[in-house]
Amino acid sequence: MRAKRSNPATLRTGSAKRCQLVFGIDLTSTAVKPSACLALDTEGQLIYFGFLATDADIISVQNFYSPRVIAIDAPLSLPLGMCCLEKSCPCRPNSGEKNRKCDRELRRYGIPCYPTTKETFIKELIYRGISLKNKLCHQGFRVIEVYPYATKIRLFGKAIPPKTTREGMTFLKRELANLLPSLSPYLHLFDHNLCDAAMAAYTGLLCHENITEALGDGEEGLIFIPKASQGKRSP
Ligand SMILES: [Zn+2]
Repeated sequence: MRAKRSNPATLRTGSAKRCQLVFGIDLTSTAVKPSACLALDTEGQLIYFGFLATDADIISVQNFYSPRVIAIDAPLSLPLGMCCLEKSCPCRPNSGEKNRKCDRELRRYGIPCYPTTKETFIKELIYRGISLKNKLCHQGFRVIEVYPYATKIRLFGKAIPPKTTREGMTFLKRELANLLPSLSPYLHLFDHNLCDAAMAAYTGLLCHENITEALGDGEEGLIFIPKASQGKRSP
């Protein structure tokens, strides 16, 4: 495998090619800050984790592992009617409302999320997400948008301590160890970005098993979150 990795904390097994995988990516705005990535097989076993910088590196690793689902934590579409996020362009949402339908549905559930308006502070991340999704879809991969914060609220309830605190990381790692016991030996190496990549991959796994709910409009863009009633996989 020729893909460069910027972090040695990587695990591979020889059987990766033979089993079906799902991939989670906690995408960053630019290659300057590498993106945490994690792959599970469809039994929930950890296959890979690491940090990948460029889109080319991410695509190389996807081609190597050929996952069934690639779950990306970043907005992967714009509101219908908008061609860009530039204030100088006259494009406007067809809906006449701010943000995408999936963003508005998340907010109706009481889950705050990033804006997808021209006032957004994550413009570069949205552009990168859309571009990466298009490249991966062009190669035949199934790419879904996920939002680990929403996954956590669906799975663990609203009283989640912030991931920026020690208490929050302890909580998150304990819950990840419950959901995915194969992560346990490595969790001490995980920062909150890798934890989010793990939550993204887990959401991809739930999607593969048809136990996710798709918020939003199919033509515009969907966010996949665990179904309210049965989000957790049976062991
Ligand atoms: Zn435009």
